[in-house]
Amino acid sequence: MSGSNPSLLPHERARPLTKGSTYPAKELCSQCGLCDSRWVAYVRNACAFLNQQFDGMEARVHGRSRDLNNEDELYFGVQQRMLTARLKAPLAGAQWTGIVSRLGVRALETGLVDAVLCVQQSEHDRFTPVPVLARTPEQVLAARVNKPTLSPNLEVLEQLPGSGIKRLLAIGVGCQIQALRAVEATLPLEQLYVLGLPCVDNVSRDGLQTFLESTVSSPETVVHYEFMQDFRIHFRHSDGREETVPFFGLDTPKLKDVFAPSCLSCFDYTNAGADLVVGYMGATFGRQWITVRNDRGAQLLALVEDELDTAPVSSKGDRRAAVQQGIDAYDKAVRLPMWLARLVGCVVNAVGPKGLEYGRFSIDSHFTRNALWLRRHHPKIAERQIPEFARRIVARYRLPAL
Ligand SMILES: Cc1cc2nc3c(=O)[nH]c(=O)nc-3n(C[C@H](O)[C@H](O)[C@H](O)COP(=O)(O)OP(=O)(O)OC[C@H]3O[C@@H](n4cnc5c(N)ncnc54)[C@H](O)[C@@H]3O)c2cc1C
Repeated sequence: MSGSNPSLLPHERARPLTKGSTYPAKELCSQCGLCDSRWVAYVRNACAFLNQQFDGMEARVHGRSRDLNNEDELYFGVQQRMLTARLKAPLAGAQWTGIVSRLGVRALETGLVDAVLCVQQSEHDRFTPVPVLARTPEQVLAARVNKPTLSPNLEVLEQLPGSGIKRLLAIGVGCQIQALRAVEATLPLEQLYVLGLPCVDNVSRDGLQTFLESTVSSPETVVHYEFMQDFRIHFRHSDGREETVPFFGLDTPKLKDVFAPSCLSCFDYTNAGADLVVGYMGATFGRQWITVRNDRGAQLLALVEDELDTAPVSSKGDRRAAVQQGIDAYDKAVRLPMWLARLVGCVVNAVGPKGLEYGRFSIDSHFTRNALWLRRHHPKIAERQIPEFARRIVARYRLPAL
């Protein structure tokens, strides 16, 4: 992979790669795309699954690491501000109201950046991701809506040298952003802004097919889906029809093997290295949830703030008993009949956690599941891979025996 001139940096010495020739994280690889660029030269240090480095990354990017004694930072990471919002004029076809796409458009229109790293879709398959360096608002808008599959976003770093792009806005999920932050200093850029998405339970394209086939009435017509704060998955079909399935009605025995091993070993749910994070799970139903981590994040939010209907974050309920019950039910791969799942879903939605408490419910449920999965399947690397903030959260629950 390396040439001979010792005065060049490792990525400058790297020869073009054959896509897929090296993925050192092996089974745990999240296909973030770094290894499909010359920045593969740094993979042993940069890969989120070979070298967890939350403290160093947070300190470098935000000026400090998270305060583990502050519950909001323990759960949601370094922050200046959290709020909930909706675009006053929602963007048709976006995942939620389209704050992310609108921000990308404004970053280009105002000249803040020369390009936006985002994910369009294959012309043959709506769920196959195609990362791009978008240079126009139209190209950013063409990337709206989630492609709920592992996406090789960082492969487009390969296009940076010679592109004239000096200021970049990168949109991405945690594993992509951890690797991007690790190589940031070596990129041919003057300024990098990072707009993060929270992310959990991603799947390969084949895994997505299994999920859709086991969950929804007509998998081939699904154009959009989301796990929402009312404890239901909302599917939208190409004819505009909406279908909902309660979380508690999922075919857990079948789906346990569907999630990518990378996602089962990830604790970067809330995208610790991003400047600004836009998700939904810390907001009440129908609204988006925004975390500003640093001054660059505040600068990004300012691009769209007057287009938003904003509200403070709120929190209601107590998640803890529901999380503990969920740990045991998941481990035993309990599958409820659909009538009972709908009933449980209604009750939990009526009395269950809301706002930030819903966000904590989801984090607790996933961190405990992932810690158990790692300790069972990868005991040698488990303790290295679980960061201190996740360890503290997991320790609040009783886990099944290994
Ligand atoms: C795989 C995945 C899982 C998620 N899980 C959660 C969650 O559990 N909790 C939560 O609060 N939020 C989650 N999100 C974020 C949430 O679903 C919305 O994407 C976010 O709120 C932005 O909505 P929007 O309408 O503003 O986005 P839009 O304006 O529709 O823009 C969507 C953006 O997502 C990017 N994108 C699409 N697919 C991918 C991908 N596979 N990898 C990287 N970037 C991609 C596109 O480039 C586009 O810019 C997840 C997102 C993804 C991609």
